[in-house]
Amino acid sequence: MIKAVRGMKDLLPPETARWHYLETVARAVFVSYGFQEIRLPLLERTELFSRSIGASTDIVEKEMYTFLDRRGESMTLRPEATASVVRAFIENRLDQGAEVKKYFTMGPMFRYERPQKGRYRQFHQINCEAIGGEAPELDAELILLLMEIFRRLKVTGLELVVNSLGCPQCRPAYLMELTALFARGLRDLCPDCQRRSAANPLRVFDCKSKTCQELLAQVPTISDKLCDNCQRHEARVLELLDRFQVPYRRNPRLVRGLDYYTRTAFEVVTTQLGAQDAVAGGGRYNGLIKDLGGPDLPAIGFAIGQERLATLLSQQDADLLQQPLLFVAVLGEAARDRAFELVQALRHQGYVADLDFTNRSLKAQMTMANRRGAAWVLILGDQELADGRAPLKDMRRGEQHLVSLDTLPQILADLQPELKGV
Ligand code: ATP
Ligand code: MG
Repeated sequence: MIKAVRGMKDLLPPETARWHYLETVARAVFVSYGFQEIRLPLLERTELFSRSIGASTDIVEKEMYTFLDRRGESMTLRPEATASVVRAFIENRLDQGAEVKKYFTMGPMFRYERPQKGRYRQFHQINCEAIGGEAPELDAELILLLMEIFRRLKVTGLELVVNSLGCPQCRPAYLMELTALFARGLRDLCPDCQRRSAANPLRVFDCKSKTCQELLAQVPTISDKLCDNCQRHEARVLELLDRFQVPYRRNPRLVRGLDYYTRTAFEVVTTQLGAQDAVAGGGRYNGLIKDLGGPDLPAIGFAIGQERLATLLSQQDADLLQQPLLFVAVLGEAARDRAFELVQALRHQGYVADLDFTNRSLKAQMTMANRRGAAWVLILGDQELADGRAPLKDMRRGEQHLVSLDTLPQILADLQPELKGV
């Protein structure tokens, strides 16, 4: 038996209904905030990621799916979407016009991590990127948008954690101070941090080791060292979150796993997922577009982990998006022939209808209908054909009524519950 690659999961029904639901809700929210969808290749030149994400990050150091193609060029399956969005933005000259460009995208990401619950080697993200705006209102808008997705999906028990990572005016001095501090207390840091503290000392805050965390508790944070502009920016973002009653916690040690962030960084965590507690994360990346050879434009974005989000959703809510199924149970050749015609007509009108072709007993067909979650079953035999009327069983209420076959579409139209608006 050939098995799936380690860390790569098949997504099966009914779980797919949950995914459909969360993607539909997210799309609707993005559209209402003026975002448009962008779809990008899964494969990019390795250089795109090594240059943007940062050489001393977990992703670039040990998580990338990198290989040489047939011409010997180094290719990487994308570990995240921002770098690709920026590449596409520059390459397609999407910078025309002064308005903020707002994009969203959804799809698989690849990271060579140790697979466990909530952590896979192929996983999926919903990504949001706004390019060309520096105003703190835009930071607030993205966070409000993100929280609106959770609100509509009825996901509760989330905590929004925010920080500011400073800018090229204030961060370098802080990094030097940090480097000097680490140079003195370096022996106590874990080997990973010792190595990283030279290249990018901020990374150390992301370390999971307890000794490192204890050491860091005494170290000044970037929040203490922000320049006036960064302070004003952060204050305005937080003021807007307050105004719209979005609760948050400031964590001056939140740095996130990517190097390109400036100013606002945020994460949404939950207590319901055990160790893998981050559902979404994002931040501002003002220097990235220029670094990758594009215009000097500020930007901000976030990513939601779809696997983690899906586990927080109720299956019932997801099922509400599905149109209810009418199953036609048939007895005999003639009835099956008529049923086939009937379901075709119903499908043609946009209803969800099905029947079975395997000649099973009525009882077996009722079981099938149940397993499929049918809302109604129409029972069609020779007698019903002759009468032009057949019993329609409402599976949820357990009631049964005789209905005329000719007026079935009209009857179904009356029976359709309000489809859930998202
Ligand atoms: P973590 O701290 O859990 O490793 P991260 O900081 O590496 O997360 P990001 O790069 O910010 O994650 O990606 C955004 C979101 O994507 C995360 O909050 C998480 O929900 C999801 N995610 C990241 N890596 C994985 C993975 N290997 N499997 C499943 N979901 C993931
Ligand atoms: Mg990670």
